[in-house]
Amino acid sequence: MEIVAVPAFSDNYIWLVHDETSGETAVVDPGDAAPALAAVQRLGWSIDQVWNTHWHPDHTGGNLAIKEATGARIWGPASGRIPGREVALAEGDEVRLGDHIGRVIEVPGHTLDHIALIFDEELVAFVGDTLFAMGCGRLFEGTPQQMYNSLQRISDLPGEARLYPAHEYSLSNARFAVHADPGNRALSDRLAEVQALRDTHTITLPTTVAQERETNPFVRASNWEEFARLRAAKDSFRS
Ligand SMILES: [Zn+2]
Repeated sequence: MEIVAVPAFSDNYIWLVHDETSGETAVVDPGDAAPALAAVQRLGWSIDQVWNTHWHPDHTGGNLAIKEATGARIWGPASGRIPGREVALAEGDEVRLGDHIGRVIEVPGHTLDHIALIFDEELVAFVGDTLFAMGCGRLFEGTPQQMYNSLQRISDLPGEARLYPAHEYSLSNARFAVHADPGNRALSDRLAEVQALRDTHTITLPTTVAQERETNPFVRASNWEEFARLRAAKDSFRS
């Protein structure tokens, strides 16, 4: 399974997922059709499936144009307002790309409809706006309890699992994380790494479960109350 990042808007990533054996390609959270279609053309692929993690327009805005251009089938959360959705996904459902199977887990918090797609054999997870490198999504719809549980479910995956969030927020998240957890050496090292990558406009993703367990204060919070305090502090933090 090959995974390619397509930058969109100012800080989104649209992920292309390609299976070499079947030749099939899925696109995760295409907020904008044009960059995704240009990227598959450059790669010699074509989009067969659209997978959405939640309803926000910067993740779904390209759905209809991609469907029109390619005939791709659109999969998305059952409870969400997903443009053009044909297959509704809920906890325990599966997506398939060739022989690769992704299972759906519900991770409410950023939105109530938010899902993540977990490819257990490949040790890959598409986590949308739930978990970011050293951070997490804002709580637009869900409660701190929900988001804390959602982050715990993701960080319970094997340490070597690669996580693919939908935004390049690593540097601002790292600055807050160092402020919140100043004694964490792994975190200060990671801030320096991320700073160096962003100085040359290089992508900092994917991350791994092991890295997040070491450096993500929202994952490391010991209960939802601590998580809630951190989330509120991040919302007003100016780096
Ligand atoms: Zn969102």
